[in-house]
Amino acid sequence: MSSTTRTSNLTSQLWESSALFRNATLQLDAAARVMNLDPNIHGRLKVPRRTIVATIPVRLDNGEVHVFEGYRVQHNISLGPGKGGIRYHHDVNLSEVAALAMLMTFKCSLVGLPLGGAKGGVRVNPNSLSRQENQALTRRFTMEINSVIGPEQDIPAPDIGTDAQTMAWMMDTYSQDKGHSVLGVVTGKPIEVGGSLGRAESTGRGVVYSIEYAIKHLKKIKKSSSIPSLDKSTTAAIQGFGKVGQVAAEELYQKNVVITAVSDETTAIYNKNGLDIPKVSKYLLTHPHLKDYPDADHITNEELLSLPVDILIPAAIGGVIHSENVNNVKAKIIAEGANGPISSRAYNDLDQNGVFIIPDVLCNAGGVIVSYFEWVQGMQNFFWSETEINSKLDEILNRAFNKVVSVQEKHKCGTKTAALISSVEHLSKAMLIRGLYP
Ligand code: NAD
Repeated sequence: MSSTTRTSNLTSQLWESSALFRNATLQLDAAARVMNLDPNIHGRLKVPRRTIVATIPVRLDNGEVHVFEGYRVQHNISLGPGKGGIRYHHDVNLSEVAALAMLMTFKCSLVGLPLGGAKGGVRVNPNSLSRQENQALTRRFTMEINSVIGPEQDIPAPDIGTDAQTMAWMMDTYSQDKGHSVLGVVTGKPIEVGGSLGRAESTGRGVVYSIEYAIKHLKKIKKSSSIPSLDKSTTAAIQGFGKVGQVAAEELYQKNVVITAVSDETTAIYNKNGLDIPKVSKYLLTHPHLKDYPDADHITNEELLSLPVDILIPAAIGGVIHSENVNNVKAKIIAEGANGPISSRAYNDLDQNGVFIIPDVLCNAGGVIVSYFEWVQGMQNFFWSETEINSKLDEILNRAFNKVVSVQEKHKCGTKTAALISSVEHLSKAMLIRGLYP
């Protein structure tokens, strides 16, 4: 029987329900073809190990009870406990969460962490909830997935629409049930309750580290003067000014890179001479979004993606660069801060046009690397300095980057395929050594 005929009904449902799942599967298929992957491993990786769909009743401030839908998906736990964020977004569905869990498996394996891939989400617009409603939703969702999470089972973290406060509520709810504080059940917690120094900045910081490695690599292999440097001669545009995009913008600004545009879901702001990023960050302390930001021109998110910049960082949602707009993209380097921002077909087009893409599983892996450090610190009750954390982050990410470009060179393939080959080579060995139960 071929791996195609073994495809389960669940896989077909997931395939039909989100472009993100189709793209993640197509990218796995591409890597499997190039590396000649064992069809049994390939078939297993196409389908998540476990999915949970929970309905979550929450009493709203007006007295009504609204029932939300939430998901936790564990894709693969051959390397260790599941690891992956919790997304609160009005569009989230089981298929998208399953795709994100699959990407987490590849990410953890690529950077060599003893962790598997998982992801969670609740279909809700978090901006529509009061603090009390958000807390009630988070605590009830935690109880609904209580039996499958834990420091040795599956460890959630923040993602779109969730933050350190969400993680504190999750940790507290789980701990109330166990009767003692369980720091290792989630990462991305506030420092006061077992969070790690550098975790909040880790994903955005990792994005900038990986851009630095890419520039160094391109200068080595191309020896061309058109390769950007991280200084005032270089321009960048960043989609999404949240936990990832804002930190990346601030770090690049500190290196004097001219950031001509940033955006959130309401608008994109643009200044061809460069935005004052600290001023934008300060503005957001007192305003919920950028919609009325006064000191810049306003363009659309779509226009941001086609600006003539050296570096483009999609750091918001998935699928924003696709076959219909890919030809408008002018950047020389794209750093995938978000998960799955480029469709599988657009990826191939960009590769062929000589755009260097730092794939999501590498580019935004800083978050899960420092989450791993937070988990280790929480289990040991021994906390490290931020300098130690940043230097270990740099070391792990740099090693993974070098692995990806050497696989790319060996197989003459795109960077995403190379990243997946690197990841799946390691993971498949572990799966084969562990064997099949029973
Ligand atoms: P966030 O909620 O903090 O920020 C998201 C940003 O994107 C906000 O500025 C929001 O306004 C904007 N946005 C939302 N929908 C948009 C749309 N349709 N068009 C344009 N902008 C939109 O989320 P985050 O944690 O920064 O995550 C951003 C991306 O990075 C996600 O794809 C997430 O999966 C990925 N990621 C996050 C982490 C992490 O540690 N937070 C780690 C790895 C990957």
